[in-house]
Amino acid sequence: MAPKSLLYTLFSTLSVALAASIPQTDYDVIVVGGGPAGLSTLSSLGRMRRRTVMFDSGEYRNAPTREMHDVIGNDGTPPAQFRALARQQISKYNSTSVLDIKIDSITPIEDTAANTSYFRAIDANGTQYTSRKVVLGTGLVDLIPDVPGLREAWGKGIWWCPWCDGYEHRDESLGILGGLPDVVGSVLETHTLYSDIIAFTNGTYTPANEVTLAAKYPNWQKQLEAWDVRIDNRSIASIERVQNGDDHRDETGRQFDIFRVHFTDGSTVERNTFITNYPTAQRSTLPDELSLVMVDDKIDTTDYTGMRTSAPGVYAVGDCNSDGSTNVPHAMFSGKRAGVYVHVEMSREESNAAISKRDFNRRTLEKQTERMVGNEMEKLWKRVLDMHRE
Ligand SMILES: Cc1cc2nc3c(=O)[nH]c(=O)nc-3n(C[C@H](O)[C@H](O)[C@H](O)COP(=O)(O)OP(=O)(O)OC[C@H]3O[C@@H](n4cnc5c(N)ncnc54)[C@H](O)[C@@H]3O)c2cc1C
Repeated sequence: MAPKSLLYTLFSTLSVALAASIPQTDYDVIVVGGGPAGLSTLSSLGRMRRRTVMFDSGEYRNAPTREMHDVIGNDGTPPAQFRALARQQISKYNSTSVLDIKIDSITPIEDTAANTSYFRAIDANGTQYTSRKVVLGTGLVDLIPDVPGLREAWGKGIWWCPWCDGYEHRDESLGILGGLPDVVGSVLETHTLYSDIIAFTNGTYTPANEVTLAAKYPNWQKQLEAWDVRIDNRSIASIERVQNGDDHRDETGRQFDIFRVHFTDGSTVERNTFITNYPTAQRSTLPDELSLVMVDDKIDTTDYTGMRTSAPGVYAVGDCNSDGSTNVPHAMFSGKRAGVYVHVEMSREESNAAISKRDFNRRTLEKQTERMVGNEMEKLWKRVLDMHRE
């Protein structure tokens, strides 16, 4: 190898540095949402020393419930206790921080001069934060009808998820709340827990709804008969709590609530517990503002890998995404998965930037060296070779 080439190699080996094409932001990642999904992402990124901030407006879907179930290792843990422990454990990762405030807007910024892009988030106080990536773990809200007594009992004897709350009320009298088309689905989910079941269809037992139900379950009437399920189509005026299961439990964890359903005709029926069929909606307007592709009002992540969304650099985890699962284990799984993919995506960008910086430095040094030594080295080397030959 000629001396000049040797010189170049030496210089360029010493000149590896991080490239300028990585945007200079306050954080690597902004996580919006402090439920199990956002917390899992924060944990994963913290363990890889990624500068990550998690914003939490304090509106958790399972806030009304007495305790969580079907979350192994945390069966029976109150959600607030679970989140507090997670925060405490994550706080030892110095690159993470938590801010208890709502994020009002997130804007993607294109820096064409530097050939980079990043995000700017603004919180409810108007403070701005920038990051390379965004993870939304913003959750869902349950759209509970305006029946007096219903919202107050939500998560406390009246529930939507049998895996979460059904076992604590096993063998009690069950009511099904919701429209006729949802009755069979609720029975199929719960018949191993209950034998005394009344479906309160609240005026929705109509010919049109019978057709809808028959399209899904052609033999729906026979199925309900087989499980001894009665249908009560009277209009519900209110639901009154008669006994609170918080104060009436047994040593196996059973909760004994009592509710009285008041109908508009003045009659009443008592039940211990209810499963419901009510819709949900996105808690946050951020998915809409970021123009994310949605599937049935969930952020589409199924068409992309690693909880990515339709917007480059934006990920969605937990209830708000289109995975089709809304429970704490799924929130933790998807949060963790996004944590891995975000880290690796950023590492790839850093790797590519380091390579292009190195190439850029090498080319610059070659030109500088050329200018400094001209072709004197080549002449010197030729003279040495000539002398050697003589
Ligand atoms: C009554 C009830 C009981 C349940 N019980 C169980 C159970 O026993 N077991 C189980 O597995 N599942 C249970 N679930 C389901 C469980 O609650 C959800 O699956 C889980 O909470 C989803 O977690 P997440 O992190 O996606 O959303 P969430 O826990 O709802 O968290 C959403 C987060 O986003 C934040 N946020 C939203 N918008 C913004 C914003 N703009 N800026 C800042 N922060 C924002 C909120 O403040 C919150 O921190 C229950 C649900 C309900 C309704």
